[in-house]
Amino acid sequence: MKKTIIFFGFIFLITGLANAQVTAMVNSAISQYKEHLNPSANIYISSEDRTWQQQLEIILNPRFSGSYTNIKREFLSYSGLSSLPPYSQVSANLDWMNWWERGIMAQAGRPNGFPHVGGRAVDVSVRSLNNQQKADFAQILRNKGVEVIYEYYGGSNSEFHVSIERANLFHCYY
Ligand SMILES: [Zn+2]
Repeated sequence: MKKTIIFFGFIFLITGLANAQVTAMVNSAISQYKEHLNPSANIYISSEDRTWQQQLEIILNPRFSGSYTNIKREFLSYSGLSSLPPYSQVSANLDWMNWWERGIMAQAGRPNGFPHVGGRAVDVSVRSLNNQQKADFAQILRNKGVEVIYEYYGGSNSEFHVSIERANLFHCYY
C-alpha cells in the first residue's frame, strides 16, 4: 500500500515537472520572440494541462455533442444506457468513473486522443500572427526542443496538423 502511494506520488511529480517544464520553455520562447522580432505580438498560452476529470466534464458537456464520438459510443455500450448522463451523475458512480479514467488515460498525451491530459502539452494562441511571423515563432520554439503541431480550433473541436496558414494555435509538447 505504502509502495503504491509512493509510486503514484512519484508519477504525479514527474508529470507535474514535465508540464512545468513545457510551460517554462514556451514562456521563454514567447519572451524571446517578442523581444527580438515583434514586441507588440499578442501571443499567449491559451490552454494548459487538464486532469482526466476535467477532460470528462468536457466530453459530457452537451456543447461538444459532435465530438469524442468513439469513446462516448463505447461508454454507452459498456453502461447499457441509451444517452449520456451529466457529469454529476457519472461522478457519483465509482464503476463508471473507473471506466472513464482508464479510457481517457489510455489516450492521454496523444494528438488524436486527449492531448492535453497527462501533463505535457500547452497551446499558444497565434491567431494574431501572419504566416511569416508564425514560422519565425515556431522556429524559436523548436530551437528550444519544443515539438510544435499546427492546430486549428474552431470553437468545439480541434484539428491537428493543419497548414501554417490555417493554424490559430500552436500545440506545444515536450
Ligand atoms: Zn492543443
